[in-house]
Amino acid sequence: MKIYKFGGASVKDADGVKNVAQIISYNNQHNLLVVISAMGKNTNALERLVNACYHYNKQGYEILQEIKTSHQTLINELLGNSASMWMNEVENLFLELECLIDNNNLLDDYDFLYDQIVCYGELISTRIVSAYLLSIGIRNQWVDARNFIITDSRYRDARVQWEETERIVTNRLLPLSQKNLIITQGFIGKGEKGETTTLGREGSDYSAAIFGKLLHAESVSIWKDVNGVMNADPKKFSESVIIPELTYNDAIELAYYGASVIHPKTVQPLKASNIPLFVRSFINQDNQGTKVSNSSSTLAVPCKILKENQLMLEISTADFNFIAEDNLQQIFQIMSKNKVRLNIMQNSAIHFRCIIDNKENQHLPLQNELSELGLNVNVTNDLKLLSIYQPGNEKIEEYSGELGAVILKQHVGNAAHFVLR
Ligand code: ASP
Ligand code: MG
Repeated sequence: MKIYKFGGASVKDADGVKNVAQIISYNNQHNLLVVISAMGKNTNALERLVNACYHYNKQGYEILQEIKTSHQTLINELLGNSASMWMNEVENLFLELECLIDNNNLLDDYDFLYDQIVCYGELISTRIVSAYLLSIGIRNQWVDARNFIITDSRYRDARVQWEETERIVTNRLLPLSQKNLIITQGFIGKGEKGETTTLGREGSDYSAAIFGKLLHAESVSIWKDVNGVMNADPKKFSESVIIPELTYNDAIELAYYGASVIHPKTVQPLKASNIPLFVRSFINQDNQGTKVSNSSSTLAVPCKILKENQLMLEISTADFNFIAEDNLQQIFQIMSKNKVRLNIMQNSAIHFRCIIDNKENQHLPLQNELSELGLNVNVTNDLKLLSIYQPGNEKIEEYSGELGAVILKQHVGNAAHFVLR
């Protein structure tokens, strides 16, 4: 049994879908489960739809129409005259989405609304790929991932309930997958009340890993528009190279620091079951890509990860007291409640500093809650975070010069981090 995962870029247009079909057709089609994300940038479009609905903005219907039209164009290109024969399910999904946005009762919980709407990107894309495969004679079974990936109800960042998920996957999905090629969605699951949940942006890699682990797959392959995991983003650093082999631990650390080629939660479940992960190019299929496994290979080059659009929060007590354990406990609780991940943290006697991603003003509710507790929060915008993993013998400081003033430095384990202005 193998797992393949195709992200949005691989199915962004008709040629992309045909290419995916070709990759699938090279494989033994029994014992293959294929996880697919929303097509192209449709998750972003659906996020705009959520915002419009949440703010009772009539633009929602226009956004939905755009999403619909782009999918219809793609369907017509893929299936031509026979499109209508295959597309009932897709039409039904759009109808469901329309009814959903008509329904004002949903609107008080943003994150809940988000998950109920954004999941349609994956539901629609998988229906289209499944229909296209059938139309060219590749038999497959479309399954709804929400029947198998059971989560808690922490919307937009749902956590997998492993025991229940394992039970259902073993009893229901395993037998099915031994007989059929399975097409299913990444990113989505089912919460405590049977409602849809999502696993966090770019979470389809994680879905592939969950299926891989629970179906005891021989491997999981993530097909990307890059040739493998690189030691640095070639758009940002001149001398970047593909890393042919990575240990699970190195991959976990790199993903955690923001090497966006693998979703951070993906590697741990595979490591636990010793399942190799391949990161491969859907364009240059002959390329071997990167293999993440238990190998003993050590990283031959330092890895550089640059995250832009970072914020520094500098938290201190309003009464000039020390930042003590009680304050830290409250700060962490508020961060966790607001689903904020701390990329870097540092504390001194009177300050707690942390670096977070600057996402749609997510720090504003945080700031309010912290002020209510009598804490001062000073925010610095527009920072970059450079993480250098396995810097080896090179002088870490050398890297930072070219990128601007260093306002915070930290060296933890195998990594050095610089917050730059
Ligand atoms: N479609 C979702 C996103 O764009 C999940 C994924 O692509 O992995 O975030
Ligand atoms: Mg996507």
